[in-house]
Amino acid sequence: MQKPEGIIVGGGLVGLTLALALHQKGYKCRIYETVPELLPLGVGINLLPHSVQNLAKLGLLDALKKVAIETSSLSYYTEDGKTIWSEPRGLAAGYDVPQFSIHRGDFHMILLAAVKERLGEDCLFMDHRFSRYEQDGDGVTAYFTNHAGTQEQQTVHADYLVGADGINSRLRKILYPDEGPPHYSGQMLWRGVTEMAPFKDGKSMFMAGHNDLKLVAYPIRAESAARGKSYINWIAERRIPSDLAGRQADWNAEGLLSEFKFDFDSWDLGWLDVNALFDNAISIHKFPMIDRDPIPKWSFDRITLMGDAAHAMYPNGSNGVSQGVLDAMEFVSLLQKGGNITDILTQYEGNRRPHTTRISLANRETGPEKVMEMVKDACTGDCADTHTCIPADKLEEVATAYKKLAGFDKESLKKAL
Ligand SMILES: Cc1cc2nc3c(=O)[nH]c(=O)nc-3n(C[C@H](O)[C@H](O)[C@H](O)COP(=O)(O)OP(=O)(O)OC[C@H]3O[C@@H](n4cnc5c(N)ncnc54)[C@H](O)[C@@H]3O)c2cc1C
Repeated sequence: MQKPEGIIVGGGLVGLTLALALHQKGYKCRIYETVPELLPLGVGINLLPHSVQNLAKLGLLDALKKVAIETSSLSYYTEDGKTIWSEPRGLAAGYDVPQFSIHRGDFHMILLAAVKERLGEDCLFMDHRFSRYEQDGDGVTAYFTNHAGTQEQQTVHADYLVGADGINSRLRKILYPDEGPPHYSGQMLWRGVTEMAPFKDGKSMFMAGHNDLKLVAYPIRAESAARGKSYINWIAERRIPSDLAGRQADWNAEGLLSEFKFDFDSWDLGWLDVNALFDNAISIHKFPMIDRDPIPKWSFDRITLMGDAAHAMYPNGSNGVSQGVLDAMEFVSLLQKGGNITDILTQYEGNRRPHTTRISLANRETGPEKVMEMVKDACTGDCADTHTCIPADKLEEVATAYKKLAGFDKESLKKAL
């Protein structure tokens, strides 16, 4: 029997990961991406051990090690630099694989290079904006225009179609026409990068403050570290309750220091000059913290959703892209077991949707960052350098529960080997 062939809509992080996973197991696919050229856009993201374990299976570990930072710890602080909770991460925490902090564009280019090398350039169709589909017992037909939407592109036929077209997915819009724009959390994020002297060991990630005013920072480039510097990704987060609609979200929108810096004027972390971090920014982008409501169904006969198109979630817990990688691997693993493609897509959804729904909802409650809220609510101001107002075992419970929920506790990873 012939192996099913697929159409992947979206050449983002998850679409390209899926293409590599399919190719590795001998399945053909074609990728249709709306932009005429994929560029190294965005700023920092985290690849947690559960996704790194899978990316290693795809033969990408060495390429990632070359460009990314192997994160050694994650710490939470108050705005005056007192420790709330700190834990080792990746190899330092005893995992078999690192946790990576990486520039989204660097990761995207690693995936793109691997796709071109392994699958060949002719499986990748740029300037193809997916517009609609038709399906019947024989397969699925996809229709595309150019990116500008001014002219029809080729029509494509395959056994199944995966919509990995991001938070503003066209496929999801067709399936859920009344859904509207993404859900805004009430928090605005200014995302920047600054090259400066390393803080801590040059491999640490931290979050300081609380849900109304927070600073997150971590270094993301090995090349900078090799020169004795840190290419630091930072996110200044401030609550701005408004009726701002998620449709205003634009990954390329410019942010201004004057919009947020004043809020951090009095911050003193001791080991990091927060003013210098902001003042020396190479770039600043502004992006609202948005997600999508969990939906009751991803798979409809021969089509399904994957990655952000299926489950865009708040970045709390740094899990978004990692969950998309897990989607792709799960789908290919089910494909290998064989059977009818519609049953495989239903099973894929059954194995992944409840899981990502729970994570999306936990992230709305700030995910593992809840420890910052717990301390803010309980602290009487009498703590010394390390907070003692909440017993450490209670904070550890939060961290452990989130790892289990998101599937990157060590026991779950050992089982998945
Ligand atoms: C330009 C850009 C910058 C980003 N920057 C960051 C960042 O700095 N930090 C962060 O945490 N996350 C960022 N993200 C989001 C992050 O990539 C996703 O949250 C996560 O990686 C999940 O990946 P995904 O492949 O599901 O979605 P994405 O990575 O968003 O990829 C979706 C892809 O689908 C394509 N597409 C959309 N509509 C169509 C269509 N109709 N037809 C064909 N193709 C289509 C898009 O052009 C894109 O390449 C960014 C996304 C984009 C597109």
